[in-house]
Amino acid sequence: MEASAVRAATGSPSVAADLPPLRLSGRAASVREVLAEGVEVTPPPGAEGNGSTVEPVDALVLTNLANGRWLTGFSGSAMVVVLTADDLLVITDGRYATQAPAELEAAGVEGRVVIANRGSEQQEAAATAVSGLGRLALEADNVSWSRYRRFAGEWFAGAELVPSTGVIERLRRRKSPEEVARMAAAAAAADGALAEVLPRLAERPTEGEVAAELDHLMRRRGASGSAFDTIVAAGENSALPHARPGPRRIEPGDLVVIDFGAIVDGYRSDMTRTVCVGEPRPPGGKVYEVVRESQQAGVEAVADGVSCADVDAVCREVIGDAGWGEAFLHSTGHGVGLDIHEAPSLSSRSDEVLAAGEVVTVEPGIYLAGSGGVRIEDTVVVTGDGCRRLTCSPKTLVVA
Ligand code: ZN
Ligand code: ZN
Repeated sequence: MEASAVRAATGSPSVAADLPPLRLSGRAASVREVLAEGVEVTPPPGAEGNGSTVEPVDALVLTNLANGRWLTGFSGSAMVVVLTADDLLVITDGRYATQAPAELEAAGVEGRVVIANRGSEQQEAAATAVSGLGRLALEADNVSWSRYRRFAGEWFAGAELVPSTGVIERLRRRKSPEEVARMAAAAAAADGALAEVLPRLAERPTEGEVAAELDHLMRRRGASGSAFDTIVAAGENSALPHARPGPRRIEPGDLVVIDFGAIVDGYRSDMTRTVCVGEPRPPGGKVYEVVRESQQAGVEAVADGVSCADVDAVCREVIGDAGWGEAFLHSTGHGVGLDIHEAPSLSSRSDEVLAAGEVVTVEPGIYLAGSGGVRIEDTVVVTGDGCRRLTCSPKTLVVA
């Protein structure tokens, strides 16, 4: 399996070639507008009052790496980003002395990079940037207890710290054409890898071998890595929505759920296909047809202005009508981008509405414990009157 894979992939063109440049220069201004108008402030659990309020702040302190990357283009693994009305400061350490300024410049971002290895030096840079400011928003869902104590007691000791949620995440929902191009390239790497692997399932590989092969082939096509831990789940394992690939061999008649994606320039794809070597054992074929119909109905429901809960309801209705409503164990989909799971959520509990430019998954499934499961998933970009699929692998149950 390995040798033939290397030969076949050698001539594959890289999906990461010829991507349009990602220019982020306008993002700081849009965040500054939000800071002036008001950010969502969430009181700590148990606090009095009626939930969150919207309050203006003087600065935003980012510790979430994906949010920092979205704003500045810097892709390092350690950063604190401070955005004020007239300053954008990226604090990181000596490992990124070359990379951080280069990435800001490549993205057209006007900002300062401070390289400091000692906590006291980082603290001084941050304190200077916010000196004289009153209210600073922290990312409530990201700051650890120990970091909060350091921020409150040392870094930002003179300021009022407020817990904000979703400030950058809301802005990240709509992707620019350049971001969509990266996600389409990631999806293409995954499509190509799957097409190469499927004919070899008849050789009875283990789940783990197929997962490793997909990861390898996506990289051969220009992906920098896998979007998340690749799922390959055969037979009874396919009834576990988040199974881990193991030593089980793929046998004729097994339903095989394959859920995976690639990363290209930080942006992810997400796709699930369910396949079978030969005809599936009953009721596999019937389950597949129902999920296929549900997924298609969900994709057809996606459009600008449609509520996320409605897309979920469309998928759920098809599965419920077939009598398997209880076996659809998760929500219908999620946003994708720099993170594999981001806003919005396509669930019955969501009060969000889809907008053109958002990239979401549609992935209904039916899971019959002890027997098997089916999930089918596409990543789609919302358009004015519908959506466009980024993941394009055929939906054919019987392979090899
Ligand atoms: Zn997936
Ligand atoms: Zn997904």
